Amino acid sequence: MTAKTLESLLSEGVQGRAVLVRSDLNVPLADGAVTDDGRIRASLPVLEKLARSGARVLVTAHLGRPKGEPVPEFSLSPVAARMQELSSAPVKRAEDLTGESARSAVAELAEGEILLLENVRFDPRETSKDAAERGALAQELAALTGQSGAYVNDAFGAVHRAHASVADIASQLPAYQGDLVASELQVLKRLTESAERPYTVVLGGSKVSDKLAVIENLLPKADALLIGGGMVFTFLKAQGYGIGGSLVENDELETVKGFLEQAQQKDCRIVLPTDVVMAASFAANAEHEILPVDSLETGAHGADALGLDIGPASAEAFAAEVAASRTVFWNGPMGVFEMEAFSKGTAALAEALTQSEAFTVVGGGDSAAAVRALGFDESGFGHISTGGGASLEYLEGKTLPGIQALGA
Ligand code: ADP
Ligand code: MG
Repeated sequence: MTAKTLESLLSEGVQGRAVLVRSDLNVPLADGAVTDDGRIRASLPVLEKLARSGARVLVTAHLGRPKGEPVPEFSLSPVAARMQELSSAPVKRAEDLTGESARSAVAELAEGEILLLENVRFDPRETSKDAAERGALAQELAALTGQSGAYVNDAFGAVHRAHASVADIASQLPAYQGDLVASELQVLKRLTESAERPYTVVLGGSKVSDKLAVIENLLPKADALLIGGGMVFTFLKAQGYGIGGSLVENDELETVKGFLEQAQQKDCRIVLPTDVVMAASFAANAEHEILPVDSLETGAHGADALGLDIGPASAEAFAAEVAASRTVFWNGPMGVFEMEAFSKGTAALAEALTQSEAFTVVGGGDSAAAVRALGFDESGFGHISTGGGASLEYLEGKTLPGIQALGA
């Protein structure tokens, strides 16, 4: 069974119907104001499409982790305010989720209007382990839509959660896939099922253990796996190199050795850096020097030095790999990009992706943030995934509850 699309809902007709949309509006806030409205902007097209077609649009979403009770700092009120500024349709707000405020706001909601319900995670049943509790909340949410309601899941960033508003609700109402979810899935399918070769996967970031399952699943699919970031030192140590005081996960040494062997059998090259930026300490102004990978402990700070970025020769080699690829998936910064001195490897890689003719995909919250922080135009990449956790779980080969619930 394949999921029903938003187009199919629109062609059924939504005039006068209440349509409940699960959106991803989990934006950063400071002093009660939205500091990055990217997710609001990304969510509006589906809401506006429905409103333009005459639907009464109910929106449910979460913000932060309020642990199942109302917490004023996690209210969606600032999100509603920003949405109102950006939206072509009128935006109303309820002060609760399924209570009196929501019910009367729904009763007053006109065709073509949008109503944002309060943070769905203020209700402990949203994330409950008990299916009956989640089901009860899903039923209350569905009841808000009245007779001819429908449900649209457009919250790709939440589809890896088996939550009431993400998964359970789909068995209470006719359920459809929103455009954001559809486009993310299309990209991820392409990466796992029909990637054009050569296919290069670039992994970095801090922890190998976070990415083990991704490596395992992509090793047989990719032609080359380029490794940088903090996780590279576990690979280098597994190969017998001294790594000084760099980040390392000793528990994963055997697993990583296994990957190195498996790569040979699977015909996937694992490409490691040949030089590293070694620093005196973990600080923005730390003294640092570039050392070849077989001499990382021979510099000014000996065995106390920390590897905080890939070196320039490695960055150049990685860029050349990217240039020769037809598909590139990148997750995890090459170094501590938050500090200018250790951001060059990440910047060089991002630059290579923007220069490349390949289909390029950036996944992961910090990787997307790095691309923006380093001043790259997002349009230079093929796709920047909005849902870090959800896209990694998809690439690990896991079933995503929110997608499964839609019948995809
Ligand atoms: P993503 O969110 O894109 O999946 P991760 O969360 O795995 O990425 O990793 C991001 C973090 O990894 C960044 O905060 C960055 O500073 C850190 N990092 C990268 N290289 C190193 C390194 N050599 N040593 C320590 N931390 C590193
Ligand atoms: Mg991260």
